[in-house]
Amino acid sequence: MSTPKILILGAGYGGLMTAVRLQKQMNYNEVEMTLVNKHDYHYFTTWLHEPAAGTTDPDKCRVEIQTLLDTNKIKFVKGSVSEIKREEKKVLLESGEELTYDYLVVALGSEPETFGIQGLKEYAFSIRSINSVREIREHIEYNFAKYKMEHRPEQLTFIVGGAGFTGIEFLGELTDRIPELCEEFDVDRSLVKVYNIEAAPTVLPGFDQELVDYAMEVLTRKGVTFKINTPIKECTPDGVVLGDGEEIKSNTVIWTGGVRGNSVIEKAGFETMRGRVKVDEFLRAPGHEDVFVIGDSALLINNETNRPYPPTAQIAIQEGDTLASNLIALIRGGQMKAFVPSLKGTVASLGKGEAIGLVGDKKLFGGSAAFMKKVIDNRSLFLIGGLSLMMKKAKL
Ligand SMILES: Cc1cc2nc3c(=O)[nH]c(=O)nc-3n(C[C@H](O)[C@H](O)[C@H](O)COP(=O)(O)OP(=O)(O)OC[C@H]3O[C@@H](n4cnc5c(N)ncnc54)[C@H](O)[C@@H]3O)c2cc1C
Repeated sequence: MSTPKILILGAGYGGLMTAVRLQKQMNYNEVEMTLVNKHDYHYFTTWLHEPAAGTTDPDKCRVEIQTLLDTNKIKFVKGSVSEIKREEKKVLLESGEELTYDYLVVALGSEPETFGIQGLKEYAFSIRSINSVREIREHIEYNFAKYKMEHRPEQLTFIVGGAGFTGIEFLGELTDRIPELCEEFDVDRSLVKVYNIEAAPTVLPGFDQELVDYAMEVLTRKGVTFKINTPIKECTPDGVVLGDGEEIKSNTVIWTGGVRGNSVIEKAGFETMRGRVKVDEFLRAPGHEDVFVIGDSALLINNETNRPYPPTAQIAIQEGDTLASNLIALIRGGQMKAFVPSLKGTVASLGKGEAIGLVGDKKLFGGSAAFMKKVIDNRSLFLIGGLSLMMKKAKL
């Protein structure tokens, strides 16, 4: 019999976790494993709001993939997946290279969901990769510099669309960075405007009200103007038009209002909801014994609430772990285990030294939540890259 081939697409939290768990447990030559990723580095998506605002260097938020792999067990291919040919069990890369598989792991993450709002795709930024956050940071700095020459208020007006976790965490960092930028560019702080615009009736929808109130109080104190229950109708080169017709002029709109699965998946003909594949208990795509989908590209229903689990790194990491064991079981002739997420809690940063969180049924505010956030971030480093990655990149 020929050696089974496992092909993993995407080296984010889900894909990388699958790879490192497989390499730990599989013997040499027992299986042919390949990991494909667009970049030769893994980035810590959950940290990206920091380099986007410029409070952390982008390099701190990434690690070279090869340093995490045993390349005698896993081959790494730097390449962009352009097509999945399910019937032929092949994956096509943009370079023209074709890869075959017996088992496919799709862990390609997400793309911004614009809900059909005109102009968002064209004129808004989104926090989604190292390259995108470098662009946002440079753009913010450039607008401060330009203001000193042209004095147009829209150059100092920053709009964050969406008040979910990403939006709130970015606002925390942005409002930490603004005083530094004001000092660097000799700008009066009162001239800088930061808006958060959210269609839902509350920020952090679904989160505990006391924690939400605390987050809003902290961010308002740091200079954010909230416009809640206010949909963005259109994004234009000059700013945004709101549902009630109000226009806010701004050179910088950052859209954090939602994500959908990677478009490669929809194009491959999998059945999807908002680009995500509704997977079975073993994380398989419906009708496919050989295709597993994990992370933000997968849709997993919480049977208790009958609603999908929100896409998080926490779940992606756990899925990668279970999937690796299941692939080993398939190859060695064992039983697969159903995936059941074990939710440990959620913590959202509000900038330096400030956060909110719910861990178990314990609410955390301020410094203790910020400390817990660092513990969670460092734990992810450990799970993905062991002690050596934690030593290199840990948040202190
Ligand atoms: C600012 C921010 C803060 C967040 N905070 C938290 C948090 O506190 N806690 C939490 O649990 N979750 C958080 N999340 C959500 C979390 O980051 C995601 O749920 C998680 O990254 C999903 O993991 P993934 O493996 O599915 O995708 P990702 O980690 O996004 O990885 C996808 C990988 O696929 C690669 N890729 C994409 N397209 C291609 C292609 N065509 N070809 C080859 N490679 C490709 C990408 O380069 C990337 O390496 C946050 C997200 C953001 C943006």
